[in-house]
Amino acid sequence: MPAVLRLAVPVPLRRLFDYTPPDDVNPRDLRPGQRLRVPFGSRELTAVLTDIADSSEFDADQLRPASALLDQAPLVSESVQQLCLWAANHYQHPVGDVFSAALPKLLREGRDLPQDGWRLTTRGLGLADGALARARSQAKAIALLQAAPRSGTDLADAGVSAAVLRELVRKDLIERCTLEAGPLDPSTREAGPVLLAEQSAAVDAVNLGRFGCHLLQGITGSGKTEVYLQLIARCLAEGRQALVLIPEIGLTPQTVARFEARFQTSIAVLHSGLGDGQRLAAWQAARSGQAGIVMGTRSAVFTTLAHPGLIVVDEEHDGSYKQQDGFRYAARDVAVKRAQLEGCPVVLGSATPSLESLLNAHRGRYQVHHLNERPGSAALPRLETIDLRRQPLQGGMTETLLGALRQTVQIDGHQALLFLNRRGYAPTLQCHSCGWVADCDHCDARMTVHLRDRRLRCHHCTAQRPLPGQCPDCGSSSLLTRGLGTEQAEEQLRQLLPCPVHRVDSDALRTREAMSSLLDIARAGEPCVILGTQMLTKGHHFPAVQLVGVMDADALLYSADFRGEERMAQLITQVSGRAGRERSGGRVLIQTHYPDDPLFAALQRNDYSALGAALLQRRQATGMPPFGQLLLLRADARDERLGEQFLVSLKKQVLPTLDPACRLLGPLPSAMPRRAGRFRWQLWCMAPSRSTAHRAAQQLVQAGEALGPRRDLGWFVDVDPQDVL
Ligand code: ADP
Ligand code: ZN
Ligand code: ZN
Repeated sequence: MPAVLRLAVPVPLRRLFDYTPPDDVNPRDLRPGQRLRVPFGSRELTAVLTDIADSSEFDADQLRPASALLDQAPLVSESVQQLCLWAANHYQHPVGDVFSAALPKLLREGRDLPQDGWRLTTRGLGLADGALARARSQAKAIALLQAAPRSGTDLADAGVSAAVLRELVRKDLIERCTLEAGPLDPSTREAGPVLLAEQSAAVDAVNLGRFGCHLLQGITGSGKTEVYLQLIARCLAEGRQALVLIPEIGLTPQTVARFEARFQTSIAVLHSGLGDGQRLAAWQAARSGQAGIVMGTRSAVFTTLAHPGLIVVDEEHDGSYKQQDGFRYAARDVAVKRAQLEGCPVVLGSATPSLESLLNAHRGRYQVHHLNERPGSAALPRLETIDLRRQPLQGGMTETLLGALRQTVQIDGHQALLFLNRRGYAPTLQCHSCGWVADCDHCDARMTVHLRDRRLRCHHCTAQRPLPGQCPDCGSSSLLTRGLGTEQAEEQLRQLLPCPVHRVDSDALRTREAMSSLLDIARAGEPCVILGTQMLTKGHHFPAVQLVGVMDADALLYSADFRGEERMAQLITQVSGRAGRERSGGRVLIQTHYPDDPLFAALQRNDYSALGAALLQRRQATGMPPFGQLLLLRADARDERLGEQFLVSLKKQVLPTLDPACRLLGPLPSAMPRRAGRFRWQLWCMAPSRSTAHRAAQQLVQAGEALGPRRDLGWFVDVDPQDVL
């Protein structure tokens, strides 16, 4: 049998495909990680070679030859290939689709790697001295390229024109090539501060030459980023690149600016806001080794690096590391696996680590480093609860909170931050005469009132319509809004306080420019109120803020999601961390109907470790992750019961072979049964360990596939789900 090529083909099937080499390619030129064009059905697709085998489960005459080899050298490194194979298996996702995450779009479409350099052809190399004596600029170009291949910009700088290059190409003396990156520049533009004892202990504990998982648990402002920077400096000094993951695209400009101010080396930035060409260029700088630092949002975890030496996951608890559609991976967990495959350390940093990471630390799988001090004198804010029970409210605020705002902004001339995690004017529109409520036609959800543009919008699908003037049921024009969103809170605040109010939510700040001008206002320090949703908690610093108000903590505390309490604790700790960075004596006021909940007492001690331990204990009592593993099989269809019927059959099919230690629950309707016109059902599978969970995931998916496709039915397995609603 000839060599068998095992390829990851971008189709929605959970398997690799076997081909024979293209007719005109010597099998010795083939390496895993190269792309090939292959016939698939009646189409041609770009696939990635994962293995060269000497046998196939199919007969040789059944295998089709690949059509063309696209790369001379592997594009996807060996460890990233391993990572993709692992992820496809762990998340039970089609492997071709996983490999798509490892390449930028233009390369997935079969485009050549951009060739940014020029070199001599064989003919050019053999050119006799003096052969171009009468074409001086051509001779000069040849002389330059005899030393080494050069970039087009280099040649232009040396005075070689495009016309000269064209002429040399015509004579077959030079050709395009991909430039190899030179050694990394490890030098710094500015020296960092002298580290505090806790910081240097953390830096020293990270052994750069081998795999190790480190949890850097440091209160906001304790200098976690400074620890990353110092580790990166050491990593660069060893000639290796650092991969830094950040949760939000909105945070890239400020983070990149801070890293650029420190290091000479170029920084490749990868996030969803890039054009295809920019993304390819950044990806190539990472792969060639030209960029010493590669920074990006979750998908950057699959970027091939020439010399990986360190992985950092900042704000590791952040929910946006989990992809919520298609290939549902958790970039933090993939980063840990990647570090293991690369044989390098990974540092997970957060002021509020996830319970998963806290438990891993507790069990000794992760090494924890605490940063409990803030450099300088910046003290932590005092945290107090305000009992909402029987209190009159104005604009959603008690007299206590309003008084504190007046004092802070009008009298003391500081800034205040108000947190309300609900955008829009009001979450409900109701008829005062008959009780009619504006529901979404496609979801089991209420429409949110957006008064500024006079529309009703559904926050769960794309539905929207103009705000009605009258009740569609009884014709009454007395329509009321219920509940409070940021748009309304802003309006009321303007009436209650004579000071500037800035709103921070995805309606008010649609562009990155808007966010950065808000940050400028915040930094300028003029007295004002900054009111916003969880956008406020995402890593931005508000140094002049002296007071933080949490308007409705209960919305988080009593959510239907088992992670509700954890998210509330993280959110409040994160928003509090934004206060009083530069002065001492910041204050955090939390409005709640449940001031006696022990979580608040723990929050007040500013001791997230104690809080984490308490949260872990509560979680253990429920047996939910990280105690035990959770898999969710979700099915959805336009038909109300199709998803349920499918999951019932699937359960019947899988039960006889399922490990008895695994528990199946359901099928149950999702918390919001109908969304965007589809009825959603779930089957929960709880497993005691990673390995049983993994086997169960395989069995569930196999059972689902064995049932065959059904018209209009969508289904998938969500491994380690973040969102269970
Ligand atoms: P975190 O990432 O934990 O929020 P940062 O690294 O941003 O904290 O540090 C907070 C502030 O303290 C920054 O302005 C940073 O420059 C400063 N800082 C950090 N470490 C030190 C240090 N060892 N000495 C002086 N200032 C420091
Ligand atoms: Zn009515
Ligand atoms: Zn909807």
